[in-house]
Amino acid sequence: MEILVTGATGNLGGATIKALLNKGVDKSSIGALVRDESKAHELKELGVTIVKGDYNDYDSLVNAFKGVNKLFFISSSEVETRQEQHMTVVKAAKEAAVNYILYTSIQRKTDKEDSPLDFVLDSHMTTEEAIKETGITYTFMRNNLYLDFLPWFLGDKVLETGVYLPAGEGKVGFMLRAEMGEIAANLLTTDGHDNKAYNISGTEEVSFGEVAAMLTEITGKEIAYVSPTYDEFMETMDKAGVPKLFAIMFGGFAQGAAQGELESGNTDAERLLGRKPTAVKDFVKQVYAQ
Ligand code: NAP
Repeated sequence: MEILVTGATGNLGGATIKALLNKGVDKSSIGALVRDESKAHELKELGVTIVKGDYNDYDSLVNAFKGVNKLFFISSSEVETRQEQHMTVVKAAKEAAVNYILYTSIQRKTDKEDSPLDFVLDSHMTTEEAIKETGITYTFMRNNLYLDFLPWFLGDKVLETGVYLPAGEGKVGFMLRAEMGEIAANLLTTDGHDNKAYNISGTEEVSFGEVAAMLTEITGKEIAYVSPTYDEFMETMDKAGVPKLFAIMFGGFAQGAAQGELESGNTDAERLLGRKPTAVKDFVKQVYAQ
């Protein structure tokens, strides 16, 4: 198998497979790793090869990875067990003698343990190190926040209550997930990316205050931006009944933004995509214009 895409039943994996097919890669060279075949209906229709494997099952991964040239390793969505799962994937890739790994890591400015992004950063950094230690040729996509997730950060009632996040004036290089999938497809089919780490961030980086101003302009309604302290934010989320894990995620990423962790300054995305990524304002217009 020339290319095996993990997380293929997920959004980024699916977008990458479609982008590979759109680029003219033959479906017979593309494998889709799935843990649950009942979710693979759409992938089967695309004609790619379905390969069974679970990040929790080492033997299934070694079998799945045998004969694979390039592995697109999409980080697990199971945050609590992710670190162990990732070590299993990396070990299996080494055992199966995969030639190349493209891994989805995270955008950051620093690798500090006290980073507000540590709740997700730690497992990505450990995985990057483990991949390097295998000696397998790699490329890291250090992905910024999905633009698709911006409405989640803003909340359902943003047009009534305004934007409320402890993000200060920090900027975020939001980028559409489908465009990240296109970049992954480009990286998997072109040369010159060996042992490199790329910042995959939108070209225009925006603060949540700027997003509030966009909403004001688009809706004609004054949308305020309030940046509380992290503790105030967590207290408000708790009172509103928001599950702790979600509050930590939104609060942590917002704090990361406040400290400049999500501002890449030198994104590689535009060059790797071959065009300007979708602008935040265009996305916001599409979602919120009435
Ligand atoms: P997604 O739609 O949730 O897809 C995650 C994929 O991982 C699914 O195919 C899922 O399989 C698979 N997976 C989970 N646990 C697995 C296991 N034990 N064994 C094998 N496969 C497993 O996520 P996405 O939107 O495509 O994003 C890809 C990754 O980026 C996420 O997994 C997460 O690590 C990270 N992420 C990034 C951002 C960002 O803003 N940059 C936001 C959220 C997540 P099932 O379909 O069977 O569940």
